Amino acid sequence: MKYDSILETVGNTPIVKLSSIAPAHVSLYAKVEAFNPMGSVKDRLALAVIEDAERRGALKPGQTVIEATSGNTGIGLAMVCARKGYPLVIVMAENFSIERRRLMRFLGAKVVLTPAADKGSGMLAKAIELAETHGWFLTRQFENEANADVHSRTTAQEILRDFEGERLDYWVSSYGTGGTVKGVARVLKEKRPETKIVVTEPDNSQVLGTGLPDRFRPHPVQGTSPDFIPKLTADAKSAGYIDQVLPVNGGDALRRARELAVREGIFVGISAGAAVAAALKIAETAPRGSTILAMLPDTGERYLSTPLFDDVAVDMTAEEEAISKSSPSNRFDIRPAPAPAAATAPAAAVDAEAAAFVDKLIREEPALLFALEWCEFCWATRKLFKAHAVPYRSIDLDSVAMQENDWGGRVRRAVGARVGGPTIPQVFIGGELIGGNAEMFEAARNGELERLVRAAGVTFDAEAKVDYGSLLPKWLKQKSAA
Ligand code: PMP
Repeated sequence: MKYDSILETVGNTPIVKLSSIAPAHVSLYAKVEAFNPMGSVKDRLALAVIEDAERRGALKPGQTVIEATSGNTGIGLAMVCARKGYPLVIVMAENFSIERRRLMRFLGAKVVLTPAADKGSGMLAKAIELAETHGWFLTRQFENEANADVHSRTTAQEILRDFEGERLDYWVSSYGTGGTVKGVARVLKEKRPETKIVVTEPDNSQVLGTGLPDRFRPHPVQGTSPDFIPKLTADAKSAGYIDQVLPVNGGDALRRARELAVREGIFVGISAGAAVAAALKIAETAPRGSTILAMLPDTGERYLSTPLFDDVAVDMTAEEEAISKSSPSNRFDIRPAPAPAAATAPAAAVDAEAAAFVDKLIREEPALLFALEWCEFCWATRKLFKAHAVPYRSIDLDSVAMQENDWGGRVRRAVGARVGGPTIPQVFIGGELIGGNAEMFEAARNGELERLVRAAGVTFDAEAKVDYGSLLPKWLKQKSAA
């Protein structure tokens, strides 16, 4: 298929049968919204609210768009605004997973955080205030009818099409704004009145079931069940679209999300786990031959820093260690054997031109780094210089500029002869050798770096609060923290 724009790929998500985790007496299907371009159901809403506002003239070319969102709406809006050229500001509570913030910023959006203690209603209040202060266009996902309408026009039609002539006894969904629920349920109520509409919420936070917002408690099902009943959700409830509100345990939602990954190969988020947990509860008492469809709102990649991944190891597990030890090479539990003397390559001769070049740099550059362009230890050293605002010169030995006649290689050998080993990076301050990455961080921690930098007459920001560990390659940090 060819498309004129990424926006044309929103919707038309697949419905997949869950054969491994479903009991034999029912057919359990899942609508996998992770297939949307930015990986969630909210891509539908993002495109719909922007195009609706454009049609109504409520959104002017170049006007800033703003929304309060737990992430998926912001990520969808970031895609739509990037493609259509609108600046975007997202307001988000600080406790939502950090990969969401960085994703939105990667797509060019600005992300403003609100305190976790102020919950969903706090972030919404901040978005309204910013919109009023600056005359920005607030998409109002919690009450915007375009949110429900897009689900009637797309999601519901896809379901009708895919179950045409077949049974559909239950449709199961979580709710965030309630756009999915209101939009899909009103179509199913009309076209498939036999289909029971089941909405799930966390069992420790039964706001919808009781109608009492003060029953809200923190729960792990991000993006759903806020501390208030959104208008679109209230509409669906008062219209009688919801046949059952089914509480699901947060731990069960996490477990089912993991089960979907391990047993079905379907990698989705926590609210998908909640919907499947609810669907499996329905299945327990459903008559033989029943067909159940669960909504899986987003991809599991959005949850790497959340409890969903808490039990996923970083280091090798005992089982993996056993696999490692089951064959001789590349094992962490035995020291690498020293290379046999005969195999050691004779040291290549250092040429005078390269040696002179290196000497001159060391003499003249107050803060000097011999590096490889993308070596991660070189990056850590550059970040360390930057963190203390030290101007430095980096000689990138593998850069295109140094490739001709192996000039970079010749300079590297000259540096190696000078420091007594082949390790890169190598740092010199005021003509004095600090050493490699490890020595550089040690010197930063013990004050030696500051002393040498100042003696060399270069600026050093000693006030900067630097978390040195955070500058190192992530895998190294995790290893040393373990
Ligand atoms: N699950 C997740 C992960 C979400 O981000 C959302 C939307 N915030 C939903 C479910 C619920 O979708 P809706 O807003 O249409 O009720």
